[in-house]
Amino acid sequence: MNLLSSQLLRSSGGPQPSVSLSVVVPVFNEQAVLAEFHRRLRRVLEGIGLPYEVVYVDDGSDDDTPRLLQQLHASHPEIAYARLTRNFGKEAAMSAGLELARGRAVVVIDADLQDPPELIPLMVEAWQDGFDVVNMRRRSQDGVSWLRRGIARAFYRFIERISEVSIPRDVGDFRLLSRRAVDALNQLPERGRFMKGLFAWIGFPQTTLDFDRDARAAGTTKWPFFKLVGLAVEGVTSFSAMPLRLATWLGLATAGGAFAYAFYFFVKALIVGDSVHGFPTLIVSLLFLGGLQLLCIGVLGEYVARIFTEAKHRPIFLIDVFLPAQAPKMDSHIAGSPC
Ligand code: UDP
Ligand code: MG
Repeated sequence: MNLLSSQLLRSSGGPQPSVSLSVVVPVFNEQAVLAEFHRRLRRVLEGIGLPYEVVYVDDGSDDDTPRLLQQLHASHPEIAYARLTRNFGKEAAMSAGLELARGRAVVVIDADLQDPPELIPLMVEAWQDGFDVVNMRRRSQDGVSWLRRGIARAFYRFIERISEVSIPRDVGDFRLLSRRAVDALNQLPERGRFMKGLFAWIGFPQTTLDFDRDARAAGTTKWPFFKLVGLAVEGVTSFSAMPLRLATWLGLATAGGAFAYAFYFFVKALIVGDSVHGFPTLIVSLLFLGGLQLLCIGVLGEYVARIFTEAKHRPIFLIDVFLPAQAPKMDSHIAGSPC
């Protein structure tokens, strides 16, 4: 399958569910951890005993990752391998994996072993108990600086407050979704894909399990600070109109303040007469108002930029190569599966 886009995948009706469990792994320059990751994942999945596939989505890596993944695909029939045409970002890579996955349940997991694969059996149990979405909440995080952890926590709390849907706190992308939850997600047309928000938006019976997040097994984070800020802005502007409303309130408050100040000068001029004072006040208020206006235009610009991106209707990702799993890994003692 060559140069597939999300729209093409959608119009072809999407892949039919034929395996019980799919594991979607977005991968970007992870040559240092891939072999160890697959070894641990495989051991866990074999232990569950459901027919499974692992969908690796290579998000335009420029290290040895593509070669390693192709090797893994050649030697394991349960591995599907997709390569995007360039680095589209983790949110797009996850969207690609969710569209390619065929399982009745789909787990999304990072490749760097920060999300322990050993927790997947617990997630599958929750799914078998009837939940469509199993969220994994970070109780603690190893190997992440206190500053980054603090900012992430503050962001989760902030977006929880202002978002139109309830986005659960400290829940990353590690989660399990039932087939109907995946189908619902795949139907969402937006290009700005803040997945943590979209996972919450679809609703369905959801449950949350707590876990301790490990440190990255090897390699470095692919989310430098500025990219994280970009994701945070994407999240806020995709799930809340609060900044726009805030701009209106700021405008009203400043205008009200200016009116009160003018009234004060008017009364003062009546009582003590006029004098040419207040040059610093003039400059400060001028700069303050100018700054405020630029800020509000900036906020407006963020939303306009998003309308611009959505209006172009470009696909979320393009697939360069797709090698489907040859056969789901079957366990002989399985008879049927839930859902
Ligand atoms: N990732 C990706 N595309 C990107 C950035 C990251 O597919 O543009 C993958 C990465 O390979 C990993 C997961 O997303 O499997 C999480 O990335 P990372 O560990 O760098 O993020 P962090 O855990 O530091 O937030
Ligand atoms: Mg990580």
